[in-house]
Amino acid sequence: MSNIKSIGILTSGGDAPGMNAAIRAVTRAGISSGFKVFGIYRGYKGLISDEIEEFSTQNVSNIIQRGGTILKTARCKEFETPEGRQCAYDVLKRHGIDSLCVIGGDGSLTGARIFANEFQFPIVGLPGTIDNDLYGTDWTIGYDTALNTIMECVDKIRDTATSHERLFFIEVMGRNAGFLALNSAIAAGAEAAIIPEISTDVDQLAELIKNGFRKSKNSSIVLVAESPVTGGAMGLAQRVKDEYPNYDVRVSILGHLQRGGSPTALDRILASRMGAAAVDALLDDQRNVMIGIRNDEIVYVPFVKAIQNEKTVNREKLNTLRRLSI
Ligand code: ADP
Repeated sequence: MSNIKSIGILTSGGDAPGMNAAIRAVTRAGISSGFKVFGIYRGYKGLISDEIEEFSTQNVSNIIQRGGTILKTARCKEFETPEGRQCAYDVLKRHGIDSLCVIGGDGSLTGARIFANEFQFPIVGLPGTIDNDLYGTDWTIGYDTALNTIMECVDKIRDTATSHERLFFIEVMGRNAGFLALNSAIAAGAEAAIIPEISTDVDQLAELIKNGFRKSKNSSIVLVAESPVTGGAMGLAQRVKDEYPNYDVRVSILGHLQRGGSPTALDRILASRMGAAAVDALLDDQRNVMIGIRNDEIVYVPFVKAIQNEKTVNREKLNTLRRLSI
């Protein structure tokens, strides 16, 4: 059994819908298991500058349905230095906080891993990112909501694309991962998804044109993952315009609206289960692990694997998209 008595919770890096549901779950599961719970504002930045408040169950009332994060989030260069992390450790000691639950993406969990190793400090991570790019979990908190948001946007763009017989390149987030682009392309019935994971093997745009998408359709929608590898929607649109000046090409970059909105049922349930599992992990003396979900079961993924192993795109999904877009 663990001798941990208190948990500090923070959200860090890019925000994601469902982070509030996760904060609520860690707080309530923590309090019901006898822990003191502290909310740390503005990620590692607020940890270093001591923006900390003890939480009761009421602090997390009425937030499960809200997008964003009540704890706010930030990026913090100082935490990337040994001096900054020492300062963070001193603040935690001063408050008597003896474990952390970090909710964030790849970068935040990298910081958590370094800090945990440096100070032998127990940390459990929750995957909070719309990108779904963390290894060892089928879903990350916020991904399903972002996917649904994108799908709704693409449905709307399709109405105008069809009316004007245009080709639309729609750029979505993903930070070098194609999960949002590929899955939203399937969900919205798009013609193709241009994603960084397969750009190394083929010129996806050339392939698309060769396969004749421009001949058979009077409007087309292509989802593009933002990434220097894909060249982004603007770059691809320019290439098509240069080669096919008669084709009516438009670009839509969805941007930050993908991060907002009330979390879907899937994200709320995921965040609630993961939050409760984070408390169980601490009770069980598990440390330096990220909580994941695989085949609908909770799993503990060592930080090093979650961060360093590459989560691959599902080729069957790529094939399905291709087969259905004739
Ligand atoms: P995300 O968690 O969404 O991937 P970032 O990559 O911006 O977001 O990382 C969030 C924060 O995590 C950074 O601002 C920094 O404070 C911390 N962090 C990221 N990488 C490191 C690192 N190598 N060492 C220490 N802290 C890091």
